[in-house]
Amino acid sequence: MPYNAAFRCFAGCPGRYPLTQPLYRCPTCNGLLDVVHDLDALRTRSADTWKRLFEERFRRGPWPLGSGVWGKREWVAPGLPDDAIVSTDEGGTSLLRADRHGRALGLDELWIKQCGTSHTGSFKDLGMTVLVSVVNQAIRQGLRVRAVACASTGDTSAALAAYGAAAGLPVAVLLPRGKVSTAQLVQPIAAGALVLALDTDFDGCMTIVQRLAEDGVVYLANSMNPLRIEGQKTVAIEIAQQLGWSVPDWVVLPSGNLGNAYALYAGFRMLKDLGLTARMPRLAVAQAERADPLYRAWTAGQRDVAPVVAGETVATAIRIGNPVSAPRAIKALDEMDGVVEAATEAEICDAAARADRTGLYTCPHTAVALAALEKLERRGIVRRGDRVVVVSTASALKFTEFKVKYHERALPDVESTWANPPVHVAPDYHRVLDTLERHAAAMT
Ligand SMILES: *Cc1c(COP(=O)(O)O)cnc(C)c1O
Ligand SMILES: [Zn+2]
Repeated sequence: MPYNAAFRCFAGCPGRYPLTQPLYRCPTCNGLLDVVHDLDALRTRSADTWKRLFEERFRRGPWPLGSGVWGKREWVAPGLPDDAIVSTDEGGTSLLRADRHGRALGLDELWIKQCGTSHTGSFKDLGMTVLVSVVNQAIRQGLRVRAVACASTGDTSAALAAYGAAAGLPVAVLLPRGKVSTAQLVQPIAAGALVLALDTDFDGCMTIVQRLAEDGVVYLANSMNPLRIEGQKTVAIEIAQQLGWSVPDWVVLPSGNLGNAYALYAGFRMLKDLGLTARMPRLAVAQAERADPLYRAWTAGQRDVAPVVAGETVATAIRIGNPVSAPRAIKALDEMDGVVEAATEAEICDAAARADRTGLYTCPHTAVALAALEKLERRGIVRRGDRVVVVSTASALKFTEFKVKYHERALPDVESTWANPPVHVAPDYHRVLDTLERHAAAMT
């Protein structure tokens, strides 16, 4: 293959390193790494040729090219041999038009990119297929580690455990004890990973796993590792493809460690650089108010994101106080004329419930994005005629406790305005009929 990609310092220090090297920081400045592609080589195919190629493969194949990630393999991890690829046919998720909810928010065109309808139920599959495939190849080439490992708020560990198990690689996950949902906890348990429950928060887990990686004990699977971002950027490519190779006016997404915000930027940037699209969308990064270090920095006009201690939020997957990818997110905001918005617990819960009432079943993180979108629309930053895509990051089926508590009015500090608890009725035709008639007026 004439295409190639390599690690390079995010801040621009000289030096390039192979993707199979276990490297998580720039050897010169200790900063973040990026993956760079040979754009000139990619330009030997025209924009139209790339579009046709991506469309031909999309959700069709041949295996594994039907995957939303590997269908774009030349843009993601060129040079990786077929037999190293560990895929669950991830990506290719639907982009659905949420007309009723859009109208409720005062928008003509609201789309939801359903990244949660993936193998392990979150967008984390997109990055993990790339990372596990590359480490699979590195291990064949002689890399020795005890395990592939991550700190996680739940979804990263679920994805890593599944892909590791598919490849037959040992996996260890570090989770903040009691701070992930039951479904998220049982996913790595079922896949046979070593599940370490630590009495700390995500940031505490991250500090330990980073040290294990620096000491060469484990291979680091957190999004500090830019291989994750290479897979996740295909969401941007899919969105453009699904909109007929155009870009929306806004992309709104919930953010914690801030890797996905940069991934979207990376995808839209590449589309534009290679001539498949004409412009960049604007970016709205949404945070939970109780875990909002980027929002605080952004509204204060600071380019350095000071860590906070993240408080308790229903949006557990973005409960992160010290986001690793903060410099990447700042760049994405700069390049995409971005904004940052934060939502309170009450706003998040009601946004989820209202969206659910229109047939969406939204995870609390997607609800953070929807709540932020509502605030941006009210302030006139997002306008009625704008075409808006909200990135839904996980399946709400992983967050049953949250849904149940909301409808039982059991969430602290939340009024549960749209609670819809079941009605207990005697098993009698006339009682059922009465109840139906009494409630019919309330059903909308
Ligand atoms: C990981 C995750 C996020 C946040 O992504 P970052 O790249 O950490 O900002 C949002 N929502 C869900 C459901 C997640 O699992
Ligand atoms: Zn550097």
